[in-house]
Amino acid sequence: MSDPQTLTLLGSTGSIGNSTLEVLRLHPERYRVFALCAHRQWERLLLQCREFRPDYAVLGSAEDAGHLQAALRESGIKTEVLHGAEALCQVAAASEVDTVMAAIVGAAGLAPALAAVRAGKKILLANKEALVMTGALFMQTVVRHGATLLPVDSEHNAIFQSLPAGFKPGLAHTGVRRLLLTASGGPFRNRAAAMESVTPEEACAHPNWAMGRKISVDSASMMNKGLELIEAHWLFGVPGERIQVVVHPQSVIHSLVEYVDGSVLAQLGNPDMRTPIAHALAYPERIAAGVAPLDLFQIARLDFQAPDVERFPCLKLAYAALAAGGTAPAVLNAANEIAVDAFLARRLSFPGIAWLVSAVLDALPVIPAETLEVVRAADAEARIRAGELLQKFFESGC
Ligand code: MG
Repeated sequence: MSDPQTLTLLGSTGSIGNSTLEVLRLHPERYRVFALCAHRQWERLLLQCREFRPDYAVLGSAEDAGHLQAALRESGIKTEVLHGAEALCQVAAASEVDTVMAAIVGAAGLAPALAAVRAGKKILLANKEALVMTGALFMQTVVRHGATLLPVDSEHNAIFQSLPAGFKPGLAHTGVRRLLLTASGGPFRNRAAAMESVTPEEACAHPNWAMGRKISVDSASMMNKGLELIEAHWLFGVPGERIQVVVHPQSVIHSLVEYVDGSVLAQLGNPDMRTPIAHALAYPERIAAGVAPLDLFQIARLDFQAPDVERFPCLKLAYAALAAGGTAPAVLNAANEIAVDAFLARRLSFPGIAWLVSAVLDALPVIPAETLEVVRAADAEARIRAGELLQKFFESGC
């Protein structure tokens, strides 16, 4: 048996983080945890540290880090607790680390994911925003530093599995006509009642996948599929017009690749993130994920529909932002984050999400996304503009 792979887990207390630890638990001889990182949930992180005994634990604030360090000392555990954005980059790029699971949600996950890329690590990418915001730069950095990028997002992992063996993300490939990105359609696919009345509770109740609140709302608005479209474009080097979204309510086919000879290859499985996580962890080998075998007789049928972009305008906005290029996808993403927060806080209606994103995209110019600074500035500007538009909207009493 070779040495265990050493792992840093960015976002260990989130949905992907927990699923990753469930897979690791099945293979203690294969993996050693170097660092576990969470934003605020120090008590949960304490439980994880007790079980996995990492060298480092990282939290967002000094105060939470202090709580965790004290509790760990009391338990006689030697894990060193760090805090802040710089510490995340440090544990992602540390020389002891082979593999980094990049599962911090949102723009906050970008810097540590890039730090891991620059250090030439194997990166299991679950964070969408790194590619949505800075796709061109991110992929260039992967190539320049010889990093290995393996997609964990279930659709992209399925496409990766359906591409020719040895395919390297971002490299040109032949024989692929289209990528078919499947979408469950979310909880409102067949909703009869007006979308204006959608509540955060309804938006977060996804029919097939158990996920965090932000991604659940994105899934309900289909912005998640829009972000995944942009992600797929950068990962696989396929233009937007050759990426077709396919609504597939059963979430059994996780995406497909159509070839010029008429072949269509798909990856199927139960909707459980432990499958793509285990695939990326062990690639090119296969390991058990703890997922039940797919029962085709019980599934019995698979359905497909074209997406309804009038009902789900966020998808149309994402295609437009990808076509516009430059900073447009970063603006789309930032405006969406503000809109989803406002929706979850019951300050904005569900259709208001697409309205706000569209208004911010219209208000800001598209600039070539040549440096990280330009992208960060566009992200900040979009958040400010979204806040102003929301404020104006409330004041107008609509
Ligand atoms: Mg996905």
